[in-house]
Amino acid sequence: MDCLFCKIIAGEIPCTKVSEDDAAFAFRDINPQAPVHVLVLPKKHMANILECDGETMAKLLNAVKIIAKQEGVAEDGFRIVSNCGKNGAQSVNHLHIHVLGGAQLADHMA
Ligand code: AMP
Repeated sequence: MDCLFCKIIAGEIPCTKVSEDDAAFAFRDINPQAPVHVLVLPKKHMANILECDGETMAKLLNAVKIIAKQEGVAEDGFRIVSNCGKNGAQSVNHLHIHVLGGAQLADHMA
């Protein structure tokens, strides 16, 4: 499958890895929008949140919590975003959750 994030998970394309467990893989966004900008994604390919089952989503959110603490943004707060489809401005069609923090974020989201 010609999926950029599947290739990153497989180690075929380099990334700055943050963490990995049985279900989730996390690495730093190549074009960070905040001091901390980590992408958390399922190892199994799925296009976006519409294709994600509850068990996998729970594992992704658990990974988000661990990463937020590891990255030092849990106390002051952070934002998670998952763009979905054309109007959601999703540019990579492998489900991912953006974890953004490390500074005061804008109060608008769109
Ligand atoms: P989205 O627009 O929500 O689909 O987010 C895709 C994100 O992937 C963007 O924030 C990109 O900067 C990021 N991205 C694209 N290619 C890479 C890459 N090779 N390594 C890390 N992040 C990437």
